[in-house]
Amino acid sequence: MSKLIEHLICPEIQNLDAYQVPDTAGLIKLDAMENPYTWPKGLRHEWLEALRVVHLNRYPDPRGDELRAVLRASMGIPDAMGLLLGNGSDELIQMLALAVAQPGRRILSLDPGFVMYRMIALFAGMEYVGVPLRAEDFSLDLSALLAALEKEQPAIVFVAYPNNPTGNLFDADAVVRIIEAAPGLVILDEAYAPFTDYSFLPRLGDWPNLVVMRTLSKMGLAGLRLGYLAGPNELLAEINKTRLPYNVGVLTQVSAVFALHHRGVLDEQTQRIRVERSRLFAKLSRLDGIRPYPSEANFILLRVPAGQAGEIFKSLKRNGVLVKNLDGTQPLLEDCLRVTVGRAEENDTFLAALASAL
Ligand code: PMP
Repeated sequence: MSKLIEHLICPEIQNLDAYQVPDTAGLIKLDAMENPYTWPKGLRHEWLEALRVVHLNRYPDPRGDELRAVLRASMGIPDAMGLLLGNGSDELIQMLALAVAQPGRRILSLDPGFVMYRMIALFAGMEYVGVPLRAEDFSLDLSALLAALEKEQPAIVFVAYPNNPTGNLFDADAVVRIIEAAPGLVILDEAYAPFTDYSFLPRLGDWPNLVVMRTLSKMGLAGLRLGYLAGPNELLAEINKTRLPYNVGVLTQVSAVFALHHRGVLDEQTQRIRVERSRLFAKLSRLDGIRPYPSEANFILLRVPAGQAGEIFKSLKRNGVLVKNLDGTQPLLEDCLRVTVGRAEENDTFLAALASAL
């Protein structure tokens, strides 16, 4: 390593690996929790028409007012709550961290959980504290968590609801206990909201420290990069100060408004994913040696026979199917793979490839 890098780059950054995105050419992509369905031809045409009036020589609306109004109506965000847009929810996590970052301050979340909470804590010069979930079923260990809140006094607690990469939904009463016990903000990350009937969005305002974070990625618009935060106005006004100017591009704003006006198409797709999720889960349960974990998201975590995850992952890839290999990333995820629910025929190809790998 050059002296320049060694002396200049923060040790926390030197020790990190950049976020890995594998080459997916020619593979059935069941690794990244995308919606596998495209839009009907007529709708694509209408969308392209909507883009014709966009002027790329001008900066976009800095606050995305039209998009925010459409989002409020479409998602049922309470009128009294503030709404902030991000270039994906990843950017919102970063904005939140930047707003509270001070030496010695902590971000706390649950492990295994979404990796960006830890990475962004480190980018912002904060410490990350991960409280382990229960090994049997990835449920919350409430007493351990309450003890950690008391001891660590985190500035922010992130709770993914449902959780990635485990797919389960934590007990709502336990989440309330966390909100009430946390000394700082609690961000409920509802990225997978389209795939569950549970949400804390209607309860916004019940606690001054509760903020709900969502994204349009999983409902079918991953390419747009649009996340949103809903929470108390005063608080979001402060977070908003860390937002870079014009963070949401004009193509995203216009396309998201268009898509939300045709939300029925996306809802129908996410409903199909939910039906496929049940079918895939049932089939996985019947495979000898495979333990799928119940999921309220658009993916399923599965445990394979001990010591075989790497080989099974490679064998699936040779057969044209890309999933996520989580073995070795975290002690509780030993022998685990995560598969995104795809189209019926993609899931069938995956199931056949998995059966032959076993
Ligand atoms: N939160 C969770 C729990 C996620 O799993 C993901 C993406 N995998 C994100 C946030 C980030 O989503 P976005 O595409 O909006 O940045």
